[in-house]
Formats: sequence, structure tokens, C-alpha cells
Amino acid sequence: MRRPVVAGNWKMHGLRSSLGELERIMAGAWSLTANLMICPPATLIAAAAALAEGSRVVIGGQDCHAEAAGAFTGDISAEMLRDSGARAVIVGHSERRMYHAESDADVRAKALAARRAHLLAIVCVGETKDERERDATLDIISRQLAGSLPDGAAADDLVIAYEPIWAIGTGLTPTPVDIASVHNFIRETVGARFGADGLGMRILYGGSVKPANAPELLAIDNVDGALVGGASLRATEFLEIAAAVG
Ligand code: PEP
Repeated sequence: MRRPVVAGNWKMHGLRSSLGELERIMAGAWSLTANLMICPPATLIAAAAALAEGSRVVIGGQDCHAEAAGAFTGDISAEMLRDSGARAVIVGHSERRMYHAESDADVRAKALAARRAHLLAIVCVGETKDERERDATLDIISRQLAGSLPDGAAADDLVIAYEPIWAIGTGLTPTPVDIASVHNFIRETVGARFGADGLGMRILYGGSVKPANAPELLAIDNVDGALVGGASLRATEFLEIAAAVG
């Protein structure tokens, strides 16, 4: 039984005044079956984690460095996130891959760092618009999974997020048939590589998930929750999406 996760990625949004939104999410979380996670900017992790202690909302980071410590100005290690109260971290988000030129090998090293620090890694994969139009989606996903997932990944330390890049923040989503085809492909791939752990890994869909489309998207086979960007900034919308899990 895979317990659904609905994770919110606040990206570079949020000041201390935004923690009220987290409090509203915490208040609404008690009646929901999904595991909820909020990944605020690093500046808010310690305060958010303190606030969320004892609630049903887990706090995560949006990225980490692969090393535990060192001369890497401006970077944050997985151990530092854990020390601040985070219990998870997103790695390989397309915005990191695009704007920070992160390769699959970089993402794999970060996922390993997350494991070392006892953080759940949410590893993102997804194709560009051009790759979809060239019918290369499954090749791209296959390459990203092979390169980004570390050996020995387990169902309780790694979650995969399928996020078509062209669907992020655009209001566009693939059809349910297209999402099912990618999620089924990911399931087969991780099942073949990790056995029972691959069958138990949660696979989230991300890309313009909103309250209006969440019931349809979250009902698709092998969609075990959602990674939500824009709509996670508003507690009412995020809770409505999470409620669609059932
Ligand atoms: C994201 O950035 O992970 C994301 C899914 O964003 P949005 O929900 O805004 O498309």
C-alpha cells in the first residue's frame, strides 16, 4: 500500500509572514489521508519546522549540496537541512537542472546526500516540450531515471516526481492517458531495478496541478500524489488538492 504524498514547492516565494499559510495548511491537514509536505525557501525551514512539529505536515528543502560540508559559498547541505528540521528534500527539479546546469549525475549525488542525512529525496524527472513533440518522452525519462536514481534506493527513502517541464507553471497538463503512460513506464523501470522497493516507491505527478484538475489527475493509475508549485502558496487551494486524494 503506497501512502499518497502531496508536496508543495514554494520555490523562491515566502517571507516570515507567509508562515500563516503553513498554519492554515496544518489546521486543515488533520482530516486528510495524504501525507502533506511543504518545501519553503531555506530561510524559512527552521521556523516552519518548529511550527509544524507535532502536526501532519512535514517540512522539506528544495535542493541540497552533495557534500556534507565544505567551501561552497551559498550552498546548503542535506545535513544542514536535517539539522534545521527538514525531513525531505527535492532534488533535480527542472528549474535546478535548467538554471544551475545540474546533470543526472549531480542529481544522483544529491539523492545520495539526502539518504546520508536521513532525508526523504524527491527526485524530479520530466521532458521538455520539444522532447515530447519529438516523441522522445520515454527515452528522456529512462535516461533521467537511470542517471539520477542512486543504487540501493528504497521505497521509504525516495519518491519520484514526474514533472513535464512544459506543464510547470503554464496551466497546461498532459492528458490523463499520457500521464498514465509515463507513470506506468516509471513503475516498470523502478520495479525492474529495485524490485519490491521499486513497486513501493511513490510516483508523484507535478505540473499545473490545481483544485479543478486534481481529482482527475490523482485518480490516474500509479499517480501516488502530487508535487504542487503555484497552488501550494495558498492554503485553501493546497488543501483542496490534497483532499482530492480521498
Ligand atoms: C513545480 O514547480 O514543481 C510545479 C509543479 O509548479 P506548478 O504547480 O506551479 O506548475
